Amino acid sequence: MSPGPAGLDPTVRAKAVAARGFMPTDEGDALFVAGQEAAAAVPGAPFLEIGSYCGKSSVWLGAAARESGTVLFALDHHRGSEENQPGWEWHEPDLVDPEVGKMDTLPRFRRTVHDAGLEASVVALVGASPVVAGHWTTPLALLFIDGGHGREPAHRDYEQWTPHVAPGGRLCIHDVFPDPADGGRPPFEIYQRALESGRFEDVSATGSLRVLRRRS
Ligand code: SAH
Ligand code: MG
Repeated sequence: MSPGPAGLDPTVRAKAVAARGFMPTDEGDALFVAGQEAAAAVPGAPFLEIGSYCGKSSVWLGAAARESGTVLFALDHHRGSEENQPGWEWHEPDLVDPEVGKMDTLPRFRRTVHDAGLEASVVALVGASPVVAGHWTTPLALLFIDGGHGREPAHRDYEQWTPHVAPGGRLCIHDVFPDPADGGRPPFEIYQRALESGRFEDVSATGSLRVLRRRS
C-alpha cells in the first residue's frame, strides 16, 4: 500500500482502509486532501458528509477535520439506500436489525469512528437528509455528497446543501461516472449542474470522486 497523503496518520488510514463500505483507498486519500484544502480556505467552518454508512469515508474526512481543528457532521438515516435493501445489488444481510426488520448501520458506524479515535471530531447526525437540510444554516468548508444515488435524492441533496458551501470551500461528489456503462447517472448529473451553475470549478478527479471549489 502507498504511504498516503502527508498529514494523514498511517494508523488512522489503516482503520479507514479496513472499514466496511464503499470508498476505494485512493479516493479516500483524495477526500482527506480536499478536507485539508477546505479547512485552509475556510478556517473554522465544519465539514458535512451525506451518506456515512459504516463510517469508511467518515474516517478520512474526520481525520482531516481533526488535523484542522474542525469537525465533520456525518449525516445518514442509517437505514440504507435503495440499492442496500434486500434483493438489491449492494445489500449486506448482517446489517439488518432483526427486531426492526430494517437496515441499521449506526452501530457499525459508531464502532468505526471509535476505533479510529475520532469520536471528538466526528458528530453523527441521524436523520433524513432533506429534514436536516430544512434546518441547516451553518456555512460549510466542505460538503461531501454520497447519500441516495437515485435521481430525486441526488438532485435534492444538490439543491438543498450546495448553497451552504462557503466561498473557497470544497464540494465533493462520489460515484460520478461519465460513461453510463460504469454506473448510474444522477451523481454525474449533479456534478455537471455544479459546473454549469458557474458557482463551482473543478479541482481534482480521482476514480469516481470529483472535488470542486466554490468560487468566491
Ligand atoms: N460514504 C459511505 C457510503 C455511503 S452509502 C462509505 O464510505 O462507505 C449511502 C448512504 O446514504 C447509506 O448509508 C444510506 O443510508 C444513506 N442515505 C441514503 N439516502 C439518504 C437520505 N435521504 N438521508 C440520509 N441518508 C441517506
Ligand atoms: Mg459512494
